[in-house]
Amino acid sequence: MQISAAVPLMFLSVILCSLRAAAVQELRHPPNRIAVVGAGIGGTSAAYFLRQKFGNHVQIDIIEKGEVGGRLSTVEMEGNHYEAGGAVIHPLNLHMKTFVKELGLSPRHLDAGLLGIYNGEEFVFQQSEWLLINLFKMIWNYGLNFLRMYMWVEDMLDKFMRIYRYQTFDYSFSTTESLLHAMGGDDFTARLNVTIDETLQKSGFSQKFIDDIVAPAMRVNYGQDAKVNGFVGAVSLAGCDSGLWAVEGGNKLVCSGLLYASKAQLVKGTVTSIEEKVRPTKSGTTVSLYEVKYETDKGPILDMYDIVVIAAPLIKEINNIKFLNFDPPIEAVSKPYHQTVATFVHGRINASFFGCPKPCQFSVSEILTTNEPTLFINSIGSVSPVKPVTESVISKASDIKVWKVFSPEPLTDEHLRLLFESYHAVIVRNWMAYPKYTPPEKMPPIILHRGIYYLNSIEMAASAMEMSAISAKNIALLSYHRWYGKDGQIDQENLVERLKSEL
Ligand SMILES: Cc1cc2nc3c(=O)[nH]c(=O)nc-3n(C[C@H](O)[C@H](O)[C@H](O)COP(=O)(O)OP(=O)(O)OC[C@H]3O[C@@H](n4cnc5c(N)ncnc54)[C@H](O)[C@@H]3O)c2cc1C
Repeated sequence: MQISAAVPLMFLSVILCSLRAAAVQELRHPPNRIAVVGAGIGGTSAAYFLRQKFGNHVQIDIIEKGEVGGRLSTVEMEGNHYEAGGAVIHPLNLHMKTFVKELGLSPRHLDAGLLGIYNGEEFVFQQSEWLLINLFKMIWNYGLNFLRMYMWVEDMLDKFMRIYRYQTFDYSFSTTESLLHAMGGDDFTARLNVTIDETLQKSGFSQKFIDDIVAPAMRVNYGQDAKVNGFVGAVSLAGCDSGLWAVEGGNKLVCSGLLYASKAQLVKGTVTSIEEKVRPTKSGTTVSLYEVKYETDKGPILDMYDIVVIAAPLIKEINNIKFLNFDPPIEAVSKPYHQTVATFVHGRINASFFGCPKPCQFSVSEILTTNEPTLFINSIGSVSPVKPVTESVISKASDIKVWKVFSPEPLTDEHLRLLFESYHAVIVRNWMAYPKYTPPEKMPPIILHRGIYYLNSIEMAASAMEMSAISAKNIALLSYHRWYGKDGQIDQENLVERLKSEL
């Protein structure tokens, strides 16, 4: 086709598409009711973004079986509260940043204490208070690997940040793969199929660096080693950047704030089944709705919804929602999750366990571990309360602190006696924390049915607060565009180039 003929035709088709979208939008009523299952950061941010897209008239119910916040939760120890689940936020996590600002909350900057990496016998790497000594140690032991890692993570973040522009311009994605592809092309999607170990080896990092530095980062952030997929591996490495922060008062405050701001109704109950039902309308036609069944203190309740967003992992151990009479059937769609136990101990750490003979100057306050099978912990670090500490609770002896220990199994008394010289309070939280990452990873679908969306599909690529928030915004946009037939806003190719010309 000649260019002169093609241009008017293209214009015509663009105009026709816009007219069609406008007509569909006018013809279609807004949805009456939307259900969100789960009031973690995913569910509450979904309600917030759904409200922005669909307006004030739609009723949004968030059905939650436990506490608002989900995996964002604190434990109380001797009058202070500590983050027990999702704790650390990256400075470039723009959705979390925006929520905190818009909700009038305050960020709490996290002081990085001195770090040691323990291999079961000795520290393979130990930070000093002196910058020059650290630089010397890093170069002596690992050459330029640290510098290259910094550049590698920066490059990944540059691509990752594209999602915020796409979402600002209202673009959405129908699969987790297409969302990742729009951010980082084949490079991002390919990372789902190989381990972070292989990814970094291919990029020229040394095996010693991967074993001593990268694997411990995976163990503290995801309870797993460098065999996790290359995408979550990169997210985990970004989680070791400087400038990390949390929310003053507890990260879960973001969830209660979003719940309030979204004007959604919190319904206390456990969703047990979802079934499609066809109902007659006043105008004589029919409408297809979802019947959501949930158990409450007062017995089972059935409610009808136009759209359902599932913002909780669909795995048998956590969530046994039955999808009734769907063809093809919808079943538990996620792979198993990994158990991580968080144990909080107020006491004096036993430095000799970490190879420091008495009397010992033990300066590290964050200990990560290499992938040593005899080790029963993944990490141990001293933690600060989510609010500034009052005088009365500051321990007089500075070596008596609150420590958070991550382990794959609950710690026994024997373990605690090994790790601590003395202790006087212990609190344990057991989590089905994040997916077991075993590449190649198949991403669960986002669209489970015409109007049923699965927010936690994205966790199979990487689990983090910001990932849930990104998925929440994507689903708000996707469900809106699908409801009103705006196909031009879904799964568009070459967005980087297109947005350059749209600006
Ligand atoms: C120990 C630990 C440390 C972590 N550290 C970090 C970190 O430092 N930084 C970071 O970004 N991320 C971290 N994460 C991951 C982060 O916490 C999660 O990715 C995020 O909180 C997931 O939020 P979500 O809303 O998608 O899911 P969830 O928080 O799990 O919310 C799902 C909600 O759904 C509810 N629910 C489930 N089934 C039903 C049902 N049938 N009916 C009604 N309600 C139901 C649950 O009760 C829950 O409240 C960590 C996680 C853990 C466990």
